[in-house]
Amino acid sequence: MTPPSAPDDLDFIQPWFLGPAAENDQLLESLVVEFLRDYAYWRRNFHPEDGFRISADARHRPDFLGVQARTRAELHRLSARLKRAVPVYHPRYVGHMTGDLLLPGLVAKLVTTLYNPNNVSEEAAPVTLEMELEVGEQLARMFGFSTEEPASPGAPSGAPVVAWGHLTSGGTVANYEALWNFRSLKFHPLALRAGCDAIDFETGPVGPRDRPLGEYDTWELLNLSIDDTVALRRAVGAAARERLGTRFHEFASAVEAERIETLGTAGFFLKHRIEPPRVLVSSAAHYSWSKGMKVLGLGTGQLEMVAIDDHMRLDIEDLRRRLDRCRDERIPVLGVVGMLGTTEFGTVDPIHEIVAERERRRAEGLDFGIHVDGAWGGYLASVFRTPEGGWREQSEMKVGYTYFPGDVVYGAFTAVPHVDSVTVDPHKLGYVPYPAGAFIARNRDVVDFIVQDAAYVFDVETDEPPSTGEKLHNLGQYILEGSKPGASAAAVWVTHNVLPLDRDGLGRILRLTIRACETFWDSVKEHAKEWEGRVRIRTPFEPDSNLICIALNPEGNTSVAEMNRFTRAVFRRMRVDPDKPVQVMEFIGSYTSMSRRNLPGDPGDRILADLGLDPRTFVQVPEDPATEADHLYILRHTLMNPWQLGGPDGVSYIERYWAYLGEVIEEELAARDR
Ligand SMILES: *Cc1c(COP(=O)(O)O)cnc(C)c1O
Repeated sequence: MTPPSAPDDLDFIQPWFLGPAAENDQLLESLVVEFLRDYAYWRRNFHPEDGFRISADARHRPDFLGVQARTRAELHRLSARLKRAVPVYHPRYVGHMTGDLLLPGLVAKLVTTLYNPNNVSEEAAPVTLEMELEVGEQLARMFGFSTEEPASPGAPSGAPVVAWGHLTSGGTVANYEALWNFRSLKFHPLALRAGCDAIDFETGPVGPRDRPLGEYDTWELLNLSIDDTVALRRAVGAAARERLGTRFHEFASAVEAERIETLGTAGFFLKHRIEPPRVLVSSAAHYSWSKGMKVLGLGTGQLEMVAIDDHMRLDIEDLRRRLDRCRDERIPVLGVVGMLGTTEFGTVDPIHEIVAERERRRAEGLDFGIHVDGAWGGYLASVFRTPEGGWREQSEMKVGYTYFPGDVVYGAFTAVPHVDSVTVDPHKLGYVPYPAGAFIARNRDVVDFIVQDAAYVFDVETDEPPSTGEKLHNLGQYILEGSKPGASAAAVWVTHNVLPLDRDGLGRILRLTIRACETFWDSVKEHAKEWEGRVRIRTPFEPDSNLICIALNPEGNTSVAEMNRFTRAVFRRMRVDPDKPVQVMEFIGSYTSMSRRNLPGDPGDRILADLGLDPRTFVQVPEDPATEADHLYILRHTLMNPWQLGGPDGVSYIERYWAYLGEVIEEELAARDR
């Protein structure tokens, strides 16, 4: 039996959450009341000489009392219905990627909602917009990006790259934004060349090869790095400003007319006779990537699903083969996406190998952006960070864990500073209320390609472009969304300030979730022994973070379809049923499936062998779809609740889970025999 984590960790988390039984309700109440009063005084102090518009008498009028009564009645109805909500805050909830809320962020959200700031621009929300940009910097630093301002604003190329980030409604929109940014940069050099051609402007030597723009071929211009693209745009702009003088605006509008944003994807690709660009993601990627390809008009046919290995991680060999093909057939690669915690399996792609692969490809003239989808696992970077802002040594980190962090996981997280952008969801492992996702870019000058107007602002009187930091205060110009909640920014800001993004802050809470997962993993092995001869219980792949999957197969069964039927019956007992009160449920879980399409050949066969299944019963396209023989149906448990390692009477929730699962398995085995 693995001993529970040191008690000091379980003590540490006590003040941070409302608690599974709302133990800290007094604390929450006093904070809300304190800041509600504070807010009322703030209102009263705006032109107090105006007096009151709602009189004390009014509150006794029948119509007033009537409204009050109706409101109260409706709120009671709401409150009654909400009792059927899912108890995601509880350690008995081991389902989807949601959990209890950190009190500081919750209170910040409730309080700031009273002020109702709109983070679309500084004018609408001077306070919370500043917080949002600060939150972006905090996240950027957690990933190892630089946020140091350069000595002089708008310094020319060669100046250090500065990161930026902002909040979104969630990981989905942050992923769209990554695609949008990549698309805008990828095709800008061609627009520059076409714009210059249109007005017969010779740039002189520019760009990484130090030649006139007209002498770069199309493939070269499609394979510049993001930093080189930023520098090229500056250099061409500067040359035009210097040599065209008052005709600069002709250059600016000629380039504008040639951009993909103006011509549209179809128009642009036709004009330049280029293959539509590919985006490469692992086949375990979140479905927002398919949606994003549709939204941007790139088409899901251009989304290449890279194979996964038997750890459910992107298979680097398959990535190489696909990149070879793109290089040989001159198909532009818009980006490669690595997952830092897949949604279904919690597994981590080898980001370091993707980064190394790009280095090699650059030498071959093939370049692309790298985006990390860390919507789920991005915040785990905090576990790897020292309070001083460095990366912890792997050997030092291993103390206190049984398996974590393995070489791939350590390599992946510490390689993030080399990628171009990252998605991370504060409303997942940041434990703040919805909606709060974030998009972080390593080089904030990418916003010059995105901005809605004044694309070349530095043509006006001052010689210097305004610093990017200043411009960003017009946030709505640079992001996908428009009006958005300043209250979310306040929630994340307060959370990060009380729980810094390092091993001693948020990392200390997340550590417990990883420890819970390791303890759970060990317990699978123990219980597998107990059930030997009756049911095979397995983790089909090792957990990389704090999410674990379990496969169950009754002994003697060799058919995938039959295993799926059995597991489905077991899962039915852990599934939220809208017609059943949640109060009667023992544990709430979730399920996922591993499809044969994603696990052809060896990796899939190894998993089947471990479960005693016949590979011939696992097919890509079943003759009868109802047999479900094309996937393995497995239990999936997200262990983000930090209380898993404790429990009443000294029995952890993990052990309680096994006691419950054991009962359910017994009953389902009995039902099978009948
Ligand atoms: C959750 C998730 C998303 C989508 O994020 P939302 O906040 O639900 O929009 C994207 N990618 C991954 C890996 C996720 O886990």
